[in-house]
Amino acid sequence: MSSVLLPLQPRGMGSGQVEAFASYFGRLAQLHTCSITQLARFLSSWRSRELGRRITLNESTLYMTNGSGMSSYGVCMEAYVDAVEHAMRVDILRRCTLIPIRCAVSPQRFESVRGARAWCEQCFRDDLESGAPVYDRLLWTLQAITRCPEHRVALRTTCPACGATQNYQHRSGNPLLCWRCDRPLIGSASQLHLVSEPSLGERDLCELVVTIANGGPMIQAENPFHAFQRALNSILSPVASVVAGVARINGSARARNAEVKPTLRTMLRRAHAAGVTVLQILEDPRGAATVAGSLQGTFTPGSGAITVTYTGGTASGTLNPTTGGGSGSYSAPNIGEGDAGNWTANTGGC
Ligand SMILES: [Zn+2]
Ligand SMILES: [Zn+2]
Repeated sequence: MSSVLLPLQPRGMGSGQVEAFASYFGRLAQLHTCSITQLARFLSSWRSRELGRRITLNESTLYMTNGSGMSSYGVCMEAYVDAVEHAMRVDILRRCTLIPIRCAVSPQRFESVRGARAWCEQCFRDDLESGAPVYDRLLWTLQAITRCPEHRVALRTTCPACGATQNYQHRSGNPLLCWRCDRPLIGSASQLHLVSEPSLGERDLCELVVTIANGGPMIQAENPFHAFQRALNSILSPVASVVAGVARINGSARARNAEVKPTLRTMLRRAHAAGVTVLQILEDPRGAATVAGSLQGTFTPGSGAITVTYTGGTASGTLNPTTGGGSGSYSAPNIGEGDAGNWTANTGGC
């Protein structure tokens, strides 16, 4: 059976520049000269006929609030991806979303995914100059990405003409236009804000997006983050367990309950503190734990004094090697905007 929609390739497939599904859906509406709402309604009724049961594509999903937008990993947007993939007779559109990592991350998407659009004006300009359609990158939908790694400029989050936050796509689906004032989302080039340093997790997330764009990641464990944690706890020396404890303090409170799936932000902080990448944890939690377990530290048996250096910073204090309990202070300038404080540890925990 042939496709019921005109063919359209997602842009940047297989690369870190892969298109976000919301952007693809908008361009698909443009191609069919209908609004995104009309396309959603058409797909609802077409898919309902196909399956012989009522399918409703929730139109509020077209609005990007609370991370439940079209390029995320919510149930409502998965119904869209499923409908479009069937209508187009393709199976690669989920690579324009975070569906491939859904099983590993918290259902609370708002800490992983933005609630509104963010974009690099210079990427838009490059698209225009090359004569290719302007599109949103999947990478830009991630909360932790604050600049374009390619152009090293801060991502824009408001319309340069009217100042509106882009919670919605333009009704025509055109990614270049502001939903409120219909003007292009490109301001003057002289106002570009250069950001020379990457934010925490930029490299990790670029790697993750490239992997998603190529059909990965290969997630085997039911809850990779938990598997990583368990493996790490079982191989850590008393000294290194302090680091794990410090890293746990640095992580969100929710991460203390290892069974709870972490947000992307928590995963980034923990991976960074442990000196491994998020992708390593997702694909090989035990291997990542082995790498993270070999941390640098010194321990003086008589006084119980320890100093530990890890990727996120340093920790020092005293430790009882028999019980694994101890206390001291830590300084983690490399985690987020920097973090410091005191740590206490009892047997294998904090
Ligand atoms: Zn750019
Ligand atoms: Zn505007």
